[in-house]
Amino acid sequence: MAYTSDIRNHFPIFRHHPDLTYLDSAATTLKPETVIDAEREYLERYSTNVGRGLYPLAEKATDTFEMTRQKTAAFIGARNEKEVIFTDGATASLNLAARLLESLVTPKDNILATVLEHHSNFLPWKELATRTGAEFRVAPIDTDECVDRDALVDMTDEHTKIVAFSAVSNVIGGINPVSEIVKRIKEKNPHAVVVVDAAQAIGHQPIDVSLWNADFVAFSAHKAFGPTGVGVLFGKEALLETLPPVSFGGGMVLESCAETPKYREIPFRFEAGTPNIGGVIAWGAAIDFMKNIGVENIRAHEETLTKYALEKLSGAFGKTIRLIGPKDAKKRSGIIAFAIHGMHPHDIAHLLGESNICVRAGEHCAAPLHRALNLDATTRLSFSVYNSKEDIDRLIKRLKEIRKIL
Ligand code: PMP
Repeated sequence: MAYTSDIRNHFPIFRHHPDLTYLDSAATTLKPETVIDAEREYLERYSTNVGRGLYPLAEKATDTFEMTRQKTAAFIGARNEKEVIFTDGATASLNLAARLLESLVTPKDNILATVLEHHSNFLPWKELATRTGAEFRVAPIDTDECVDRDALVDMTDEHTKIVAFSAVSNVIGGINPVSEIVKRIKEKNPHAVVVVDAAQAIGHQPIDVSLWNADFVAFSAHKAFGPTGVGVLFGKEALLETLPPVSFGGGMVLESCAETPKYREIPFRFEAGTPNIGGVIAWGAAIDFMKNIGVENIRAHEETLTKYALEKLSGAFGKTIRLIGPKDAKKRSGIIAFAIHGMHPHDIAHLLGESNICVRAGEHCAAPLHRALNLDATTRLSFSVYNSKEDIDRLIKRLKEIRKIL
């Protein structure tokens, strides 16, 4: 499938809501037909459990599930499928990473995050620091309102156990140079475990975790055309091999009756219980969808829309609008948060919603960042493949009308 404006036709939701202007893909993307079909096919035709049954239907479920693990590994540049742990979502992945690393952290250590993190990549580390007595350090933002890379590296020292930061902030939209940041952190402390939250990068830019050289990378399927309830925690094989399981139950153990239970190999020993099988299989269809379009084409399309929207918003609102993040669309993903003087974000979102224009308003689960920006709330637009310049024109037209009402 080549990238064309017909892409919208792949998303059944537009048949139900032809006038929908969906500008909230950072919350979750819409789902293409092929993804819906894959989950339906599993549920209708072979909805058996994985890893257990010896009959053909269960083997088909297991094979399709495990093929999706391989597909995921190839899609993100992992060395092999052992580095892919399936979870319930990015939040679950980051919490799992924190629990896996807990036994390595002592009160002498420090854990670093940044002020622009989503709560899901902030609270697990803050809580881990509290549980272990380690120091919790928070790196600030720079003049572009992106992660202050120099500060993050300066704050890394020989006692730093974990450094957690996002590839793309869900508010700022700025693209962080992950490889460069990881390299500088590792030069400062080769033993620091680097965790990257890729929830807003997956599906929006090509990802190569081997190139990034991060130890853990977390994301959700639902932000990249997949279903909710599925996430991935990538972990470097050599590191995973050293870590004991933290969640116990079926599917992760070889011999549980013995006094010392024998746990399965990675990644299975980190996946206790029945997974979201249909969801994972549908995530495989989402990967195919992105590969068919080309993630670099998605990126180029979003960059064009971001540039257009930044120009149109400043053109329409001049000095009364504060556009958060880098001014150059090349430095940012398809996310634009803004504040317009005299217009409350919640009023904007509500009134746009009445015209079927979907945007987000609030703190976007990033309270520390909003405090750093000195703002209570922002309005956020976020783009994906199904958006067009017409969506942005419609938004601006309605925003101008709303300004007159408010
Ligand atoms: N990190 C970032 C940057 C996010 O934007 C989000 C979702 N808004 C998450 C983590 C958490 O994702 P989920 O709610 O799918 O677990």
